[in-house]
Amino acid sequence: MPDVVTALSPAPRARVQAMKEYYPPLGSRDALRLDFNENTLDCSPKVREVLANVAAGALTRYPEREPMEALAAARLGLAADQVVLTNGVDEAIHVLFETFLEAGDELLLPVPTYAMYEVYASATEASAVAVQAADDLRLPFERLIAEITPRTKIIAIANPNSPSGTVATRAQLLELARRAPQAVLFVDEAYFHFHGETVIDLVGALPNLVVARTFSKAYGLAGLRIGVLAGPVELMRWMRRVLSPYSVNSLALVCLPAVFEDEAYLDWYVNEVIAARTEFEAALDAAGVRRWPSRGNFVLLEIGARHAEFVRLMRAAGVLVRDRSSDPGCDGRVRITIGTREQMKQAAVALNQALAALRGQKEMR
Ligand code: PMP
Repeated sequence: MPDVVTALSPAPRARVQAMKEYYPPLGSRDALRLDFNENTLDCSPKVREVLANVAAGALTRYPEREPMEALAAARLGLAADQVVLTNGVDEAIHVLFETFLEAGDELLLPVPTYAMYEVYASATEASAVAVQAADDLRLPFERLIAEITPRTKIIAIANPNSPSGTVATRAQLLELARRAPQAVLFVDEAYFHFHGETVIDLVGALPNLVVARTFSKAYGLAGLRIGVLAGPVELMRWMRRVLSPYSVNSLALVCLPAVFEDEAYLDWYVNEVIAARTEFEAALDAAGVRRWPSRGNFVLLEIGARHAEFVRLMRAAGVLVRDRSSDPGCDGRVRITIGTREQMKQAAVALNQALAALRGQKEMR
């Protein structure tokens, strides 16, 4: 039956009507997945073993987050009340913004960056102050500092940043935190493992630093939906009020000990990706493709006006990549996730063929 809409149909809040939309272009991903910065292989076999042995009655119970929060905190060198587990970092962002942003407040962020910051900010009464990075896509540090006002309530920095792969230094992050004591400095370390530098050791020492980590990337658990949010006890207490008590499901929680235990698998995967990143960057340089130096499990390339066609050609060759042209200042740019060396060899072959096809078409004109 078709939907009936009348003048009296329930209308959503004005805020929701004004919200930015985000549709992840998932659909039919039965190919080499270099489009969402996921782990391109698998999670630890130890985690799969836990999942295979989940007790029959386990799902009848509500999930209990606290014991696993204590475990995550211990692994991160923090106290249990400095940590909450969330349904991925996306929920962490949502909860953080709902907790702190109100009318008159500003979210300060460099762009291009992770799209969900502006999406969740647009659901609040606060406004977003976006500072465009220069062509090198490095953190526009001086300009961010210049944009801090008494209204700045959250500064959101993905480190490493997506889609650029560029990073903020520890000194820059400390300075941002110091210059805006009335604001939360939110450092999103979703891609931490591929970079190796963190500020999570400063949680609690800085009164306004909040750090996020995810199990969706290096650990290979994007489908399980689990992330960590860490900050001073006082701030975490407010965020616990906003967070649903059961937002992290039992399966994610039951896997966590095995996730932390299997460091060998994590190290192997991260080292594999870092080696593949170096090789793939060399292949891009050899192909004469402009790229931005990346510390994540992805790299951003300059393809130019034919970016959509490039993405189509790659897909036809069995390799999914992500068009980032609609990101601010990213026209003509495409992001490619880094997988294993073997996968990236396949990607390099597809890339060279796609580029040859595009160049051939240009010459025929
Ligand atoms: N932060 C950044 C910078 C990301 O790129 C992503 C993944 N797209 C996320 C957070 C979301 O991670 P999660 O799967 O934990 O929600």
